[in-house]
Amino acid sequence: MAWSKITNISVSFLKFALKYHFPIKKIVRNTLFKQFCGGETYWECGSTMDKLYEKGIFSIPDYSVEGKEDEASFEQTTKELVKGIELAAGLPMVSFSVFKMTGIARFALLEKIQRGEYLSSVETKEFERVKGRITRLCYEAQSHNVRLMVDAEETWIQTVVDEIIIDFMKRFNDKAPILFLTIQLYRKDGFERLKQMYADACSEGHFIGFKLVRGAYMEKEREHAKALNYPSPINDTKEQTDALYNEAVSFCLNEDIATCVATHNQLSIERAVREMDPKDQQISGFAQLYGMGDFLSYNLAHAGYKVSKYLPYGPLREVMPYLFRRAEENKSITGETTRELLFIEKELERRKAALNSK
Ligand SMILES: Cc1cc2nc3c(=O)[nH]c(=O)nc-3n(C[C@H](O)[C@H](O)[C@H](O)COP(=O)(O)OP(=O)(O)OC[C@H]3O[C@@H](n4cnc5c(N)ncnc54)[C@H](O)[C@@H]3O)c2cc1C
Repeated sequence: MAWSKITNISVSFLKFALKYHFPIKKIVRNTLFKQFCGGETYWECGSTMDKLYEKGIFSIPDYSVEGKEDEASFEQTTKELVKGIELAAGLPMVSFSVFKMTGIARFALLEKIQRGEYLSSVETKEFERVKGRITRLCYEAQSHNVRLMVDAEETWIQTVVDEIIIDFMKRFNDKAPILFLTIQLYRKDGFERLKQMYADACSEGHFIGFKLVRGAYMEKEREHAKALNYPSPINDTKEQTDALYNEAVSFCLNEDIATCVATHNQLSIERAVREMDPKDQQISGFAQLYGMGDFLSYNLAHAGYKVSKYLPYGPLREVMPYLFRRAEENKSITGETTRELLFIEKELERRKAALNSK
């Protein structure tokens, strides 16, 4: 993945092969899947979760089936999530459960609601079913005392996702932060939205929890804004995103908000570590994606911080969109893989030198 051209060719080949049902399972299983996923089922993630926990790292099993648009799939995903929450209740190594709204609701329906368009009676019923699914998840999470994160997605559905989840927070976060919203700080309005949500939660008298990320859909967001001729909601530079991210982390830690600092950015992590006092550590922690930033996760755990790995799982064919995103993210010369490879090479050299000097 450190070689951008090879990654591009491989990903294009895999997409083509997938479309025409070529037998590529074995290739994917031994490459991308092995690197970034815990298994095809929750149970298959068990040995990875154990291995991580031995080193003090918690897991966030993430049923990463994406791109489904039918009711049967949404029901199937909800069942899988409910099962995951029940299992998490008995597993000390699991720190959170997580779901994506588009895993249980049709993207176009959310888009339509966000645009403020009239819903037909069929769509109104469909939306009621979505809320029913969220109720089931929240109820399970609250009754098993398992914290539940909601991932953030594209801006043109995110407003409605946030509104729905905040409604549920009013009911389910009354005694503790069970539901966590994700805030993307690559958004120009990311920090302002966070502060507003926190202020509203304080005045409504319920808890709020945040997972803070930079954001994964930058190119898509910019293209969408350009195509529909509205100003891009994404910061113009990486530096602006970094500054907003760090500010948001400081704000949450200062205000004692339950926070998951979800990043592979070493500088942001070092800053958060300096600002996190023992009181914060009881409610807040760090998270990285499985297969990325291991040097950060292991060192954080070793230093006594609460750190988790997002551990994606699901049928191989259905987690492919997630795997393609990871390949994209890791391919550039400044990407995670290259950075991590350099660290591994440096460490191997150090050990070799140490052995030779004995
Ligand atoms: C545990 C975990 C959970 C996550 N959950 C979500 C989620 O729910 N939703 C989601 O969208 N993402 C999620 N992500 C992905 C995340 O948003 C980032 O894409 C990814 O972590 C890379 O950012 P970074 O902070 O780790 O590192 P960095 O490498 O420091 O930052 C890269 C990020 O900076 C931003 N950026 C890069 N270039 C520019 C530029 N020119 N202008 C403005 N901004 C720029 C982009 O967001 C890019 O992804 C998650 C990540 C983790 C670790």
